[in-house]
Amino acid sequence: MQALRISPGLLPPECEALRQEVRAFLAEAMAGVPVARRVRNWSGANPEFSRKMAARGWIGMTWPKRYGGHERSPLERYVVLEEMLAAGAPVGAHWVADRQSGPLLMRFSPDALAPRIVPKIVRGEAFFCIGMSEPDSGSDLASIRTRAVRTRDGWLINGRKVWTSRAHQADYMIVLVRTGERGEDRHAGLSQLLLDMKTPGIVVRPIVNQLNEHDFNEVTFDDVLVPHDHLIGAEGEGWKQVGAELAFERSGPERYLSSTQLLLEMLDAADANDPRHTVALGRVVAQYATMRQMSLGVAGMLARGENPMLAAAIVKDQGALIEQAMPDLAHDLFGGGVAPDSPLEQAMRYMTLAAPSFSLRGGTREILRGIIAKGLDLR
Ligand SMILES: Cc1cc2nc3c(=O)[nH]c(=O)nc-3n(C[C@H](O)[C@H](O)[C@H](O)COP(=O)(O)OP(=O)(O)OC[C@H]3O[C@@H](n4cnc5c(N)ncnc54)[C@H](O)[C@@H]3O)c2cc1C
Repeated sequence: MQALRISPGLLPPECEALRQEVRAFLAEAMAGVPVARRVRNWSGANPEFSRKMAARGWIGMTWPKRYGGHERSPLERYVVLEEMLAAGAPVGAHWVADRQSGPLLMRFSPDALAPRIVPKIVRGEAFFCIGMSEPDSGSDLASIRTRAVRTRDGWLINGRKVWTSRAHQADYMIVLVRTGERGEDRHAGLSQLLLDMKTPGIVVRPIVNQLNEHDFNEVTFDDVLVPHDHLIGAEGEGWKQVGAELAFERSGPERYLSSTQLLLEMLDAADANDPRHTVALGRVVAQYATMRQMSLGVAGMLARGENPMLAAAIVKDQGALIEQAMPDLAHDLFGGGVAPDSPLEQAMRYMTLAAPSFSLRGGTREILRGIIAKGLDLR
């Protein structure tokens, strides 16, 4: 059993100085941006904004200098992330690269791919997407069928991925492929490859979501040839590597801060003399405070090199519960009296349609609860 110990996170004083710097930057960079855009939170992408952050040293913050990184602490990085999320800044272009692709490349290809690619991530010049899910493989990722065959000229990929967020804007994908047979061990025979999205044979087609927006895609590979040295880590070790990548994917504060704009609008609209408002919103703020301590605790675990898989699954599961309850709460408290197209109505409209996906993306609620149960030795 993994010990379930999430120590409340404490931020050292240098983090508060940085927080003021980030707030000053955001006050200027986000001036006049309407709520309708802010609600998109880390789903909103603006490469220009990403490059501004890069110029400040806020991408690859904790990474070694040899890769262009800034060697700051994970808690300093946390402060930048939470301020960006709280402001609804359009951080989506570089989010995946900063959160998981860069760390994966440095860990599993430290001398070959990382020196070539990671400095570009730090400069805000290389954006990534995640090629894991397939039409018949989501939760059961081990059953993927996209295949890469080693040929004289490189790896030849054929297959199909779905729900690939921002594949249409990404420069690279880290794609999980089958390079060997499953055999007895159903996790065997998987590998990860770095894929330049401009490689011939890749077709990206939009999948329009229920917000009527183009965020994710179907990506097909038809005899896509990838150089031999684009194999990340060891052939056949893909399953282990994906596990490490998912720990990064699930552990960040975006797993409870996606709905901040709606909370802020509700607080703005609240009637301090109405106990229904004060009790309900007080409860959400208290939940936020608890989630923040837990989420900072996970950042602390990452900083100490501990495995945050169990703690991160709990934060993501609880964060999604709080966030998904928020649109209903907004309707209960303000439903009848919201002015059409007011900031509160814009936030309610967006979150009502976006929130159902929060317990799907990055691992479904049931899968996370399976991980939690296993971690606690309950199954
Ligand atoms: C907004 C969004 C963005 C996404 N972006 C990406 C991306 O960039 N890259 C990428 O690769 N994928 C992405 N995904 C896909 C996401 O990872 C999958 O949707 C998710 O893993 C679930 O897979 P599935 O959709 O195939 O559902 P399924 O696995 O078919 O699950 C269907 C239902 O059955 C339940 N279920 C499945 N197995 C079990 C089990 N063993 N026990 C109990 N219940 C079970 C699930 O919890 C779920 O409720 C994205 C999804 C969303 C919603």
